[in-house]
Amino acid sequence: MPRTPFLAGNWKMYKTGAEAVSFIESARPLLAGATGRQAAVAVPFTALAETAKAAAGSGILVGAQNIHWEKEGAYTGEISAGMAKAAGASFVILGHSERRQFFGDTDEWVSKKLQAAISESLIPVVCLGESLSQRESGDTFKVLGAQIKGSLAGLSEAQAASLIIAYEPVWAIGTGKTATAAQAQEVHAFLRGELKTLLGAKTSDSTRILYGGSVKPDNVKSLMAEPDIDGALVGGAALKPDSFAQIVKFDF
Ligand code: PEP
Repeated sequence: MPRTPFLAGNWKMYKTGAEAVSFIESARPLLAGATGRQAAVAVPFTALAETAKAAAGSGILVGAQNIHWEKEGAYTGEISAGMAKAAGASFVILGHSERRQFFGDTDEWVSKKLQAAISESLIPVVCLGESLSQRESGDTFKVLGAQIKGSLAGLSEAQAASLIIAYEPVWAIGTGKTATAAQAQEVHAFLRGELKTLLGAKTSDSTRILYGGSVKPDNVKSLMAEPDIDGALVGGAALKPDSFAQIVKFDF
């Protein structure tokens, strides 16, 4: 089954609604004619509604960067999947390493958020990745095996139809150090194998696995040339319309 490349920006805690609209207005003509791929931006909650409105008809998907797993309740400062959806989100990033590191997200929380996202038909982008010390101590596959199992716990094959995984080595995020295409491919192939064990061959073949970690216009092509790399999750280089558009428009 062909896996349409998914090139997503993660804006983190950057951009007001007005700044987001200006980004979309600049990116729209740059992305015209970029076929055979999906462009997406994950924006701050406060910019969701304006960005989604500005992006209508542009082919750019707009998403959130997190959700809470409950539908509603006494959870000060949290946003539910339904709220994100109503504000214009089509997808949501779950378990980004910054959430795991600074806000306590665990694999168990990610699995609950995953259920909430799917129940609101939000496309889930589940992030996994090892730290530098875990890689250096030879634990990369052990760590990622546990993360994928825990984060996808309770997920059925039918629920996995829209699942996207993002492999983001923590040591490569925002550091300028990209995993080599071969290093990333090795992990992506491992994760595809884990998906096969957990959810069967069909899910393993159809699930897009994105790479994230200092993706830039000048390295996206070599990463995307690898057979198991189906897209990118991009932080810094997705904040400016021109570099984002160059990444989305990588040559096949
Ligand atoms: C990210 O935010 O998910 C990310 C990969 O950031 P950067 O591209 O800046 O490393």
